[in-house]
Amino acid sequence: MFGLPVSRGVAIGRAVLVASSRVDVAHYYIEPDRVQAEVGRLRHARDTVAEELSILKRDLPAEAPHELAALLDVHLMLLHDEMLAGATKQWIETRHYNAEWALSAQTEVLARQFDDMEDEYLRERKADIEQVAERMLRAMAKEGPLLPLRGHPRDFGGEDPLVLVANDIAPADMIQFKGSVFTGFVTDVGGKTSHTAIVARSMDIPAVVGAREASRLIRQDDWLIIDGDAGVVLINPSPIVLEEYRFRQRQSELERARLDRLRHRPSVTLDGQSVELLANIELPADSAIALETGAVGVGLFRTEFLFMTRNGELPGEDEQYEAYRSAVEAMKGLPVTIRTVDVGADKPLDRLTVSELKHEHALNPALGLRAIRWSLSEPAMFRQQLRAILRASAHGKVRLLIPMVAHLSEIRGTMDALGRAKQQLIDAGTPFNDVELGAMIEIPAAAMTMPMLLRHFDFFSIGTNDLIQYTLAIDRADEAVAHLYEPWHPAVLRLLSDVIGAANKAGKHVSVCGEMAGDVEFTELLLALGLRSFSMHPAQLPSVKQRILRADAARLARYASAVMEADEPAKAWKAALAG
Ligand code: PEP
Ligand code: MG
Repeated sequence: MFGLPVSRGVAIGRAVLVASSRVDVAHYYIEPDRVQAEVGRLRHARDTVAEELSILKRDLPAEAPHELAALLDVHLMLLHDEMLAGATKQWIETRHYNAEWALSAQTEVLARQFDDMEDEYLRERKADIEQVAERMLRAMAKEGPLLPLRGHPRDFGGEDPLVLVANDIAPADMIQFKGSVFTGFVTDVGGKTSHTAIVARSMDIPAVVGAREASRLIRQDDWLIIDGDAGVVLINPSPIVLEEYRFRQRQSELERARLDRLRHRPSVTLDGQSVELLANIELPADSAIALETGAVGVGLFRTEFLFMTRNGELPGEDEQYEAYRSAVEAMKGLPVTIRTVDVGADKPLDRLTVSELKHEHALNPALGLRAIRWSLSEPAMFRQQLRAILRASAHGKVRLLIPMVAHLSEIRGTMDALGRAKQQLIDAGTPFNDVELGAMIEIPAAAMTMPMLLRHFDFFSIGTNDLIQYTLAIDRADEAVAHLYEPWHPAVLRLLSDVIGAANKAGKHVSVCGEMAGDVEFTELLLALGLRSFSMHPAQLPSVKQRILRADAARLARYASAVMEADEPAKAWKAALAG
């Protein structure tokens, strides 16, 4: 089965199928001596739901249709049925899954069986099973977990590695899988630079998105191989194939260990050009990994992840300040580029927030109220974030980055909000340092008005993920048009070259922080266009550095113009490098 490769490496493990609506169910292992207590939790949830259903039935108004009472009876029966209750218990006892995970795994197995049934009446019973499971999950959520124990399958002796399979995973849910038990991901939908894919890449585990039929064809517990380099998913492979992939897994581990040794080498081309390698992070804790891989700063802190999955409540100023401060302190004096919140498009906030209400009717959210547009439409929240970022600047070197700028009115609105935020801090006697102000170049209109932007901003960061999306009119999260998402398109190269050239000429700092920066296919090209600062997922840093160490920037620059003129730039570039 084929999909889009989004995160490199090979994962081998058993499939855990999760319905998209249930990806937020906790997945963790239970210590062997707590298995019976966990079974007790399951039983308790079942009893709670049984009581709920009995009360519902008892209190049915006399005029209620009699089918309703019959339906409640069916639910009560399903609740005690061996195929739900008994089998779920088995998942806990034999696999040591926590009760929620065991229940959703078994619900998924049963849902498949019902899907395959000929009889329409029986097929519809799937919804009943799901409703009963949903009630039990809610009952368990109310009680909370016994000691949750997140960890690697290896920590629990003899258990198999696991791979998550879902129709779709929202970026906000994906972020919750950081540090979880899964060693790989497969989804039916999604593009290579969708935010779900970006988070998978930042977790540095193999992932394939846009595999279309994956969640229908793969069954709970199947053995899977995920080839994150080729975008291939193999179901129940033969022992020979398995052996081949295990070999590849070992090879890539060796390669990584070899690249890790470059960590302390300065990143300089053969002809002596220094190239700055920065990290993209989503959570403050990521900065430790950024430092470990040898990043000389954070080029993009995507702060919106602090705003997601909060049940409608947004983080207050102090909470944000603590998050930014901890990232800044962890970087030990190295610069941290904090981007103001970029919600909207494929990164919606929770349903209940102000913005989500505004979004509900957006026909085309990628062209709607996202990024700086959203911030300017919520002035109090924007100022709150600006104050939190400014306060963090008292603890290190902070740069402030604004996403999706295109209009002068947005620049003025931002400056105005920043001025007010500073004044509020001064009035309160709260310390902060001056921060440089940068613009993300992600809209063609911005790329084409660099002379104007250069007058207002101190530095620039090119968001190629969006710049490509908006230049080519290709939704970056839609696998149906993924084949047209083409960084090598001459129009994209023209914009990149112009922006880098204009910033360099004006002596202002410019970097690329989109996925192109961490993809070794583009390292030499970007050097040729004059780029000297790259920001990427920490895991990508060693291989990009290796390319830089082997590059001759002056020689590469000589090929740039020919490629800019070519009909097929990718071919022309490869030919130039080879020749
Ligand atoms: C980009 O658009 O390239 C970028 C870095 O921002 P994001 O991926 O968060 O939209
Ligand atoms: Mg962007």
